[in-house]
Amino acid sequence: MKVIKKVSELRKIAFKHLINKDEIGLVPTMGALHEGHVSLISKSVKNDDVTIVSIFVNPAQFAPGEDYLKYPRPLEKDLSICRKNHVDYVFVPSAAEMFPDGHKTFVEVKSLQDILCGAFRKNHFRGVATVVAKLFNISFACRAYLGMKDFQQLRIIEKMSKELNFRTKITPCPIVREKNGLALSSRNSYLTAEEKKSAAQIYQALKKAKEEFKTKSASAVLKNVRDKIASIAASKIDYAEILDYSSLLPVSENAKKAAIVVAVWIGNTRLIDNAVLSK
Ligand code: AMP
Repeated sequence: MKVIKKVSELRKIAFKHLINKDEIGLVPTMGALHEGHVSLISKSVKNDDVTIVSIFVNPAQFAPGEDYLKYPRPLEKDLSICRKNHVDYVFVPSAAEMFPDGHKTFVEVKSLQDILCGAFRKNHFRGVATVVAKLFNISFACRAYLGMKDFQQLRIIEKMSKELNFRTKITPCPIVREKNGLALSSRNSYLTAEEKKSAAQIYQALKKAKEEFKTKSASAVLKNVRDKIASIAASKIDYAEILDYSSLLPVSENAKKAAIVVAVWIGNTRLIDNAVLSK
């Protein structure tokens, strides 16, 4: 496994693989790797000739006052997880390497970037789309593996990749959860033991919604979810919505398939989760 810090070096190596007709898989991450990330890595290792994992806490997707500085960065542990899981290249650029002084080019996915998380985190998805576009260009990946955990991000990157004609096709990967249902997240390390118990109840609400959606209207299901999450200790809802699975537009009352997406604060930690609903 090779650790690469420079854009020019990764580009050179990836280009050689491209010429060699190797299929290149990319797993973009912010590090603090857990089993959710490992599930993406394993898919790439299985499907592709070459697997590149990027570890980059992207300053462009954090607003002032968010957790950019305190975001966990256990690099040695991450590298050993990558090594154990047969990754070929780990790309760990500095912020200055990805965004040198004077960087002024940004990618925006207008219809999707300002709703849900985008309404609460200004410029977040502009930062995400820009860095992922750069990673697609640098890595020549034919496939990128993205978790359904970040459902809005997944839809934004799919749209960006299609509309900007990237060669990179997106492979969505299911959410990996703890036994109690809590979706694995690098931010779970901020939670106290008590808060973790509260956080696990978010998924219980989503699970109930999955059942109820089979027989109830979308608005009735949503009301119950909001009530249930509001009753969780130390919780504050940023949003809870039932939306079209592909477009993230509002759904009709009797839609056959939808996604329920939530962002909830537990204490000082903001968690997102979602579930697919079907009749
Ligand atoms: P992050 O490091 O949080 O930016 O996540 C990097 C990638 O891993 C994204 O595509 C996430 O959606 C995905 N991911 C994070 N947590 C999970 C999880 N619990 N299950 C599946 N994928 C995940």
